[in-house]
Order: sequence, then structure tokens, then C-alpha cells
Amino acid sequence: MAPLKQQDRIALEIYESCSRRAAAEPRRYYLGMSRIGDPCERRLWLDYRIADKAALEGRTFRIFDNGEAAEARIITDLWAAGYTIDREQEEFSDFDDRFRGHCDGVIHGVTQRPHLLEIKTANAANFKIFQQKGLKEAKPIYFDQMQCYMGYGQLERGLFVVENKNTQELYTERIYFDRFRFEELKNKAQKITEATEAPPKPEDADCYWCDFRDYGCLNPPTGGPGCPGCAWWRSADKITAGSIEIILTLRDIRKMLQAATQEELAEAKDLMVQLLKTAYEARPDLSLPYKFFNPQGDLLQHFWDVQAYVLTTANGWVNYSGDPSKGKGNLRPEPAAGPWCVHPNHRQRIYQPIGCQDWAPEQPPF
Ligand code: SF4
Repeated sequence: MAPLKQQDRIALEIYESCSRRAAAEPRRYYLGMSRIGDPCERRLWLDYRIADKAALEGRTFRIFDNGEAAEARIITDLWAAGYTIDREQEEFSDFDDRFRGHCDGVIHGVTQRPHLLEIKTANAANFKIFQQKGLKEAKPIYFDQMQCYMGYGQLERGLFVVENKNTQELYTERIYFDRFRFEELKNKAQKITEATEAPPKPEDADCYWCDFRDYGCLNPPTGGPGCPGCAWWRSADKITAGSIEIILTLRDIRKMLQAATQEELAEAKDLMVQLLKTAYEARPDLSLPYKFFNPQGDLLQHFWDVQAYVLTTANGWVNYSGDPSKGKGNLRPEPAAGPWCVHPNHRQRIYQPIGCQDWAPEQPPF
């Protein structure tokens, strides 16, 4: 008997809702340690430079969701089996936070030494390859990810755990820290984050599954100061008291945004408008992100822009990057001034890039 059509419709609705969740997830503004082992440096650079890529399909999003759920379950199983795990989701970073990663945790009880813990899932075919060839040969990108976490986490040993998605069978493997490989990966990360042009297409690039195949790879962004992946960013060692005061005010607004009642949202919006007006009076040569005033706009998204803008008025060119919804971020002084602009190859506003003529300034809203 043919399956009921109704079932397909429900599955499609779930995929669509997952696609919407995927589209709403904030883009990551750093080079991830989980990807640094990718042999295509062009792909790493494009991802770091927030080039346009194919949207994540809902079904694929569910695969990632499934991986996260399995990780939580396996950590529970490890505890139940007598191991202890700490430093879960600890962040490692380098090069002014442009290169970052988050480990699954550090496990104790494997031997006398603590081990970095990395958990993955694999289909039956790939699981068999792990069993036959071991981690380094089966999936060098995971091996390199672990080398980065061990290097930055000051660990000499790692434990890789992979679950067969078809049977729930587990394969575990202990690996050693390889300082030489770690240094190679660090150098690679520095080279990619500092490169102002996309690395060439490798001759043997495996483009079939690449997210950039039909988008960014054909038309790579040129970057510039203010772009989260910009080579010109420096660490914030000259933040003044004036800047800090404004940040505190913005933190209050953030809390209100998270509280999310209509009254509080309106109040937060008023406060932001006030801050923007003050900022604009101090620097009338700058334009403002007009979409902030669009009632249909995503307030949190624009809040990110607003913070960067307001900070510029307190301490010259200072930029803010991070995730306002999580209250995390980094401050960096900008080496150059210029109006806000929308770069055609970027999905967000950036400052007028040095050495990049291809920009279009926006008009102030008042
Ligand atoms: S399409 Fe090919 S060359 Fe371009 S980034 Fe992707 S894998 Fe690299």
C-alpha cells in the first residue's frame, strides 16, 4: 500500500521549520578549529570572510542536531561508567579571537593523565573506516581539531569517541599530542586570517559537497576593516573609561531585550535611539544603520550594529564583535575612520574598507 501523502507533508513541514532555525542562527565570525584541517584553504578563507554560501537544508540541520544530542547522551554514559568530565565547552582562541574552538570536555580516569574528549557520530560505513584505519587516517580533520584543542588546552592526550548512528555501537581511540602538527595548524590559521585575498582553488579540490561551490567561490569578498574576518583588527588595549560606560549602558539594554515584553522592548528601542542620536551628534560625518528603525527588523541583529557604532564615538574607531544575546563580545580599536557602508559581498555593514573601493555608503535616518 502506498504511504499516506499526509506523512510527506509533515516531514516537509519539519524540514522547513529546521531550515528557518538554521537561517536564524548567527553566523560565526571566526575561523573554527573544527575546520582548520580542511585541505581547501580557499574554503576556510571564504567561510572566515563570511562569503555567501548555500543555505543549510532543514534535513542537514537535523543531522547536526542529532550529533549534539548524541554528544550529551555519551557524556552521560561516560559519567555512569565511572569517568569524570570537566571543562565542557571550554573555549580556546588565538590571533585576537579570530581562531576559536570549543572542546567537548576533558575526561579523567582513562589513565592517570587527563584526556581531551572529542565525541562524534558516523554512519555505518564511516564507522567501519574508523575501526579499520583509526582516526588520523579515517578523518584527519577531526584529528587536527583535537590537536588544536590539546595544544591550546595544555593536554598531552586525547580520547576520541564515535558512535555508529545505525547501531549505537561505540569506537574509542586514544591519541597523543603532536606539537609539530599543532604548530603547522596554528601557522595555517594565522595565514588564513591575515590573507586579504582568497587562496587559489586547489587543483585537487573536492568541490562537490562544498557550500561555496555556487556562491562565494566564484565571487570572493575583498574584506576590510570592520568586517569580522578583517585582517586589520587588533586587540583592544586602549579602551577608555568613556567606552566602558557606554558598554554598560548597552548591557542594560541587552537585558531588556532579553526580557522581551512589549513594553521593555519599546523602552530598549527608545534608549537605543537616544544613544544613536547622541552618537550621531558627536560624529555627524557618520551614517547610521537605517534598518534599525524598520519595525519589521530584527532588533537583536541591529543591536550588534548599534553597539559598534556607538563605541566609535567614545574612543575613535572601536568595533565590537560577539553575540549580544549571550552577553559576550570583544572590543577592538580600528586603525582607520570612515562612514558605514554595505559591501556587496558582505551580509552586514562594515566600515569603509582600506584599499577597497567597492562600497556604498548609507544615508543617515535623521
Ligand atoms: S568550491 Fe572547491 S575550490 Fe571553491 S572553496 Fe569549495 S572546495 Fe574550495
